[in-house]
Amino acid sequence: MSLYLDIHKHFRGFKLDVRLDVGNDTLAILGASGSGKSLTLGCVSGIIKPDEGKINLNDKTIFDSKNNINLPPQQRHTGLMFQNYALFPNMTVRENLCISQKSNAAEIDDMLSKFGLERVKDLYPSQISGGQQQRTALARMLLSRPAILMLDEPFSALDSHLRFQMERELLDVFHNFDGTSILVSHNRDEAFRLCERLAIFNNGHIEVEGKKSEVFANPQTRTAAILTGCKNISRAERTGKGKFFATDWGIELQCNKLDDAVKFIGIRMHSITNEIHNENSFECRVAQVIENPFSFTVMLIPKNARENLRPIGWEIEKSLWHKVKNETVNVCLPPESLLLLRD
Ligand code: ADP
Ligand code: MG
Repeated sequence: MSLYLDIHKHFRGFKLDVRLDVGNDTLAILGASGSGKSLTLGCVSGIIKPDEGKINLNDKTIFDSKNNINLPPQQRHTGLMFQNYALFPNMTVRENLCISQKSNAAEIDDMLSKFGLERVKDLYPSQISGGQQQRTALARMLLSRPAILMLDEPFSALDSHLRFQMERELLDVFHNFDGTSILVSHNRDEAFRLCERLAIFNNGHIEVEGKKSEVFANPQTRTAAILTGCKNISRAERTGKGKFFATDWGIELQCNKLDDAVKFIGIRMHSITNEIHNENSFECRVAQVIENPFSFTVMLIPKNARENLRPIGWEIEKSLWHKVKNETVNVCLPPESLLLLRD
C-alpha cells in the first residue's frame, strides 16, 4: 500500500511542485493557509488535474501526463473527506451512507452501530451534531472501500472537547485501515498524536518530510520549526566553529552541530533550563510573566545583550517558577536543544 506522486501545476501567482512517497503509513500535512495542501489532495482524488506529473496509488498509475493517463475520480477509489463533510442535506444519515454502491444493508447497519449513529439514522444532517456529521462522513468514506484515506482539516468545525473524542475515534479508523492515510491539520499536537510521518508544506512544495519524532527533534527549516510549535527563533550569524550570534536576542551561542546553511537558530520554550552550565548560560531580566493554566511563560531579555530585538520565551512549571522568580534569573539554552535552521 503506497502513494507516490510527483506533480506540477501552475496558477497565476501560485506554483504547486509536490513530490511525495508514502508507504502503509499515516502522514500528517502541516502548512500555512494557501500552501497547496488541499490542491495536492484534489490532484490525488482526481478533482484537480496537474499540468504535468505522475501519481501512483498502490502501485497503479492513476495519473501520468507523459502517457496520457488520467483516471476519473470514480475509478481512483480515493476517500477524501472535506472540512465541511459534504453530506447531502436532503438525505438522512442512512441515505447518505447508501450512496456507495459497494455496500449492502447489513454493512450499512454495522457502520451505523460502529459509529453510534443508530439513533439518528433517520435524521437529516442539519438535525444532528457536528460530531455526528463527522461520523457520518467517516462512515460513508469507509463504506466506499477506499484505496487511501485523505482527510482535509477534519476537526475545524468541532469544539475542543468533541475534537478530542473524534480524534480518538479517528485514531482507531487509521489503525484499522490497511493503506496510506493522509491528514491535513492545522494543529501540531493533533498531527503528532494521529500520525507517524509529517510533511511540512511551504508555498506549494514540501519543505521537510520524515518520521514525526525526527521532524520535531530537527525541523531543519524556519517554517518547519514554526509549524511544529517552536516559539523562539532568531536570525543567526556564524561567528566561529559551532558558534553563532543570535541577532534578534543579542547573544552568542555555542552549538554542538556544524551546518553552513544555517540562517536561523531556534529553541523550544520548554527546552530552556535554569540549571547553569558553562555554555550558553545568561543572566536575564524578566520582561513579562504570562500565566498559563499549568505553567508560566516568562519573557526574558539577556542582561549583556549587545542589542536585543526580541525577548526569549521560557516555559516553566508553576511550582518551579515560585521557587526561582526574581527580577533577574539565570537560564541556560543547552547546546543540544538548539535548532539550527535553514531559510
Ligand atoms: P491550502 O494549503 O490552504 O489547502 P490550497 O491548496 O487550497 O491551499 O490552495 C493553494 C493556492 O492555490 C491558493 O493560495 C491559490 O492561490 C491557488 N489556487 C487554488 N485553486 C486555484 C484556482 N482554481 N485558480 C487559481 N489559483 C488557485
Ligand atoms: Mg485547504
